[in-house]
Amino acid sequence: MKPTKNKVFCVSCKRSKMLFESQAKADNFILYNKEEIKEENGRAPVRSYYCRLCGGWHVTSSQSEVTKARCERHDKQMVAEVDRFAKIHEDVDSVINELYDRWEEAKAAIQQGRLRAAELSMKKCLDILNSLRISTKYQHLNWDKWAIHISDLQKKIARYREFIGQPKKEREALLAKEDKTKAEEEICMAYLAYQTLFKIETLLEEVEKDIERGDKDAVKEKLIECRTLVLYDIHCPYKNSLKRDYRNKIKEKCNRAQVSLCEEAKPRYLIEGKYMKYKDAMYYLIKKFEALQAVYDSGDYYEGLWQLSIIGKGLKELPDNSETEVLRQQYEHWCELFGEQEKDSSV
Ligand SMILES: [Zn+2]
Repeated sequence: MKPTKNKVFCVSCKRSKMLFESQAKADNFILYNKEEIKEENGRAPVRSYYCRLCGGWHVTSSQSEVTKARCERHDKQMVAEVDRFAKIHEDVDSVINELYDRWEEAKAAIQQGRLRAAELSMKKCLDILNSLRISTKYQHLNWDKWAIHISDLQKKIARYREFIGQPKKEREALLAKEDKTKAEEEICMAYLAYQTLFKIETLLEEVEKDIERGDKDAVKEKLIECRTLVLYDIHCPYKNSLKRDYRNKIKEKCNRAQVSLCEEAKPRYLIEGKYMKYKDAMYYLIKKFEALQAVYDSGDYYEGLWQLSIIGKGLKELPDNSETEVLRQQYEHWCELFGEQEKDSSV
């Protein structure tokens, strides 16, 4: 007997076909029914195959491997297209929002002189537009308007590239020009904005190296400079979001380096041609004092006076506090001792 109940319309074959939930069931059907079907139709099913679009098994009288491979390829493409279509169709609003966000991002990046960022955002825009165009016939999107938008931005980027490629003299002439056109004004704004952003980015990169080296004072010095640039020197469109991003970056680096920008960076002391932090400078001078005893014992008062002159210069640089006071007393004591040694030798 020939079952007729399990028939479905197959999108891949574009006609109704029998669908089996497993290969075994499809194969059993062939085994028990092929004679009867051949008598009726002149052709019998010879093999079973999995249909991606129906999610089950069909039987077919075609034995050709070429046809089989072609059908499978075709089905695979159809499934992928259906998936993409479904995804965009399900959530077309969020895809359109994404398009507008990337678009705003590209415009802002151009006005800030960040050309690479602008080009990346534009590429994302184009990808989204293309997938919208392929997967849906989305009615509310004005394709012509978008084409004009995109070519406008591309022209702006090209003009800007031309400007930064010019010799310095010509660039400065345009910057100083009194009555700039709107396009020229835009280019100059973007250029100045980019220079500030470049300075900030460079400082932040250097800070990264200082953090690795553990040089907290250098980190602090550069982050304070960065903070000043962020506060007073960013004048491009969308500056508030830029400022917020940079402030967060500065905060993050402060946390990682465990420095606080509330207090000013500690000064450094130059002793014998070496810049040192306060503690290191103190330690350096103490070591010098310790070495004086051996010099004194050797009777080499020239060397002693030379060492004392270095110590004296260093002490003048250090701040007035009780620690420095102790070292100053030591200094005077040694000055007297070497002074006497000098007198003794000249007698
Ligand atoms: Zn099918």
